[in-house]
Amino acid sequence: MSRNYYMAGNWKMHMTRTEAAQLAQDLVSQLRDGKHKYLVAPSFTLLETVSAMIEGTNIQLGAQNCAAEEQGAHTGEVSVLQLKDLGVHTIILGHSERRHVYKEDDALINKKVKLALKHGFEVILCIGELLEEREAGKVEEVCEAQTVKGLEGVSVADLGSVVIAYEPVWAIGTGKTATPQDAEAVHAFVRKVIARLYGDDAASKIVIQYGGSVKADNAAQLMAMENIDGALVGGASLKADSFIPIAKFA
Ligand code: PEP
Repeated sequence: MSRNYYMAGNWKMHMTRTEAAQLAQDLVSQLRDGKHKYLVAPSFTLLETVSAMIEGTNIQLGAQNCAAEEQGAHTGEVSVLQLKDLGVHTIILGHSERRHVYKEDDALINKKVKLALKHGFEVILCIGELLEEREAGKVEEVCEAQTVKGLEGVSVADLGSVVIAYEPVWAIGTGKTATPQDAEAVHAFVRKVIARLYGDDAASKIVIQYGGSVKADNAAQLMAMENIDGALVGGASLKADSFIPIAKFA
């Protein structure tokens, strides 16, 4: 298996610059000998501070969203050009909070995915079903549609800069985690969808993270599954004490 584990922290709308600098500093020192790929995604206002702390280390900088347009009259939005200027490497798109709280649909997310890829960013495309969709037996239908629509018009070459994060919405911030077996079934299914769209080689290479209440005590079991290649961590990424054991899972 040639895929490397990719452990990412989504700091959501938390922290001031002082707190973010402290956490970034702790992560830099404690992940220095980490064997996996690492990312932190702070709020826009913290990007410059965190960028300065992690520059030249094995931790990359992520943003939690971007505007669908390059620049212009878009009050309150943040452009890919501005993110590039701050040293952002990766943009998280389609997070469930963007989809369900801020009503971003697949067409908008796809527009952002293509714009981010055009500007050379890595994209983490989040997908995942609501509890009622799971209970109605629609997990595969929902995850397939979000994957296909999110990647519409993305070339096989650009797919190399795409990571998928499977995040069942009912598991995000709730303390409920998908069982390793349930998560693995969806990851394997999504990889099959990628194989159908882009071929077996691309499917075998694409990294698929799991997200949804990942903690130190469940990370290793999840990561042991064949098709789970990393984690997108929310709550537990806000403190070095809780993120480091996940990032360095044994
Ligand atoms: C997330 O926000 O992407 C997430 C998975 O959050 P949590 O780990 O808190 O469930």
